[in-house]
Amino acid sequence: MKVFNSLSGKKEPIRQAQGKTLKLFVCGPTVYDYPHIGNARTFMAFDIIVRYLRSAGFKIFYLQNITDIDDKIIQRAKEEKTDWKTVAKHYEKVFLQNLKDLNITSVNKFARATDYIPEIIKQVKTLIKRGNAYEIPGDGWYFDLKTFANYGKLAHRTVSQANDGVSRIDTNNKKRNAGDFCLWKFSHANSAPPPKGSGNAKAPMLINGEPAWQSSLGWGRPGWHIEDTAISESFFGPQYDLHGGAIDLKFPHHEAEIAQQESASGKKPFVKLWMHTGFLEVNGQKMSKSLGNFITIGDMLKKYSADIFRMMVLSCHYRSPMDYNGVLAENAQKNLKEIQIFLVKLDLIKNSKNKESVNLKKTQKEFEEAMSDDFNTPKAIAAIFELMNEVNKKIWLLNKKQAGDIKKSLKKLLSSFGIKELEPKIPLKIASMAKKRELLRIDKQFAQSDALRKEIDKLGFTIEDTPAGPLVLRK
Ligand SMILES: [Zn+2]
Repeated sequence: MKVFNSLSGKKEPIRQAQGKTLKLFVCGPTVYDYPHIGNARTFMAFDIIVRYLRSAGFKIFYLQNITDIDDKIIQRAKEEKTDWKTVAKHYEKVFLQNLKDLNITSVNKFARATDYIPEIIKQVKTLIKRGNAYEIPGDGWYFDLKTFANYGKLAHRTVSQANDGVSRIDTNNKKRNAGDFCLWKFSHANSAPPPKGSGNAKAPMLINGEPAWQSSLGWGRPGWHIEDTAISESFFGPQYDLHGGAIDLKFPHHEAEIAQQESASGKKPFVKLWMHTGFLEVNGQKMSKSLGNFITIGDMLKKYSADIFRMMVLSCHYRSPMDYNGVLAENAQKNLKEIQIFLVKLDLIKNSKNKESVNLKKTQKEFEEAMSDDFNTPKAIAAIFELMNEVNKKIWLLNKKQAGDIKKSLKKLLSSFGIKELEPKIPLKIASMAKKRELLRIDKQFAQSDALRKEIDKLGFTIEDTPAGPLVLRK
C-alpha cells in the first residue's frame, strides 16, 4: 500500500504496526456558510480512501475538526444580525446533514474547536515558554517564524515568501516577520479592557459582539491553525500517522500546524504522511460567488444522486484537479447505470451446464494493484469495466454459479468505494406487472402485453427482453 506523501514528494508505504490503529486527521470546515461541491470532493475522496483502507484490513481512527470560532463566523453573524454561536450551530448542522446525504460515514469523531479551548490555551502557553511566541500588546500572541528553521518544508517555501497566505486577523505591522500568524487574538484589541471576574476557559463572554475566553493569555479567542494542533494533540499526542486536506490548505495552514506542534513538543516529524486533494473547478473555471458558479452540496444533490457524485469523484484521481461539468456527470450517470444493469442481468442467469472462462482473479488483482498505488480509483474502475465488457459478450452463456461469483466479487469491490445503490429496488407492484406481462407474452396475447408494458413505462420503468427473461429497470 503506497501513498504519495506531500512532505517528501514521493510515494511511500503506509505501515500499520501490529495491534496499532492508524491515526488520521483531516481538516474540517469552517462553519459559516453552506458547504460547496469543492468541500464535498475533498471529504468524499477521504471517505473513499478510508473505506478502502478499512476493507483492506487497516484499522483507522479518523478525526475531523470543525472550526466553529473564526473571523468569518463573526463576520457572518454581524451580516445576519445574529450571534456567532447561532451561525456556527446552523452551518454545522447543514454540514453534517450534507455528509449524511452524501453517504460519507467514515469519520470516527468530529471535534469542535470551542470544545478544546483549555487545550488550545495550554499549547499557546507551551509555545510562549519555549520562546516561539511573542505578544503584540493590544492585539494578541503571535508565532515567531524565525524560531522554526524548517518552515516551508511541506510547501517548499521560505520565511521570506511567507506573507501571502495571511488572513485578516494575522495583520499587524508590529509583527517580527511578515508571515507570523496569530495564536491568540485579544478581544479588547480595539476597545476598553473586558470585565473582570466572570467567564472561564469553557464558556466565553461576549465582548463587543465577539466571543472571548478568559485565560492567563488575556481575554481572547484562538487563531485558526492552533485549533487543529490542539485537537490532534489531545487525541493522538504530538506525533501521528496521516494528515489530509485540500491542496489550498498546504500553505500556510499546514505549514503553520507543523511549526506549532514540532516547536511545542520538540519531536519530529509531527505527521509522517501528508495527503492533499486536488482543486475542483466548474466548467474549467475556479468556483466563486462573484463568478456566479458557486454550487452548494444541497444544489448539486437536487440534480444528481450521492452515488452519481461519488462516481464523478472516483473517475478522477484524488490528487488531480476535478472539473465538474455536464460531461463528467453524464459519464458518471451512464457508468453507474451500466454497473447496475450488469448486476441485475447476472441475477437472471439460470442454472445450466454451460461454462465460459472468466478471469475474475485478474480483475481483483488489477483493482487491488490500482488502489494500492496511491488510490488510483480511475484505474480500479477501468479494471471493473474491462471485466464487464468481456462478460457482457457472453453473459447468457454463463452458468448460475459463475454469475453468482462475479456478482459477489464486484459487489465487494464496489461497496469498498461506498456506492450505496448497486441494485436499485424494483417496487413489488412493478415486478408483478412485469410478471403478468411476461405470461401474456408467452401466451401470445401481444396487444395486452404491450399495453401493460406501456403502463410500466409510464410509471418510470423499462422492460428489456433478454434470453434469460425480462429485465426490469428504473428509467
Ligand atoms: Zn486544518
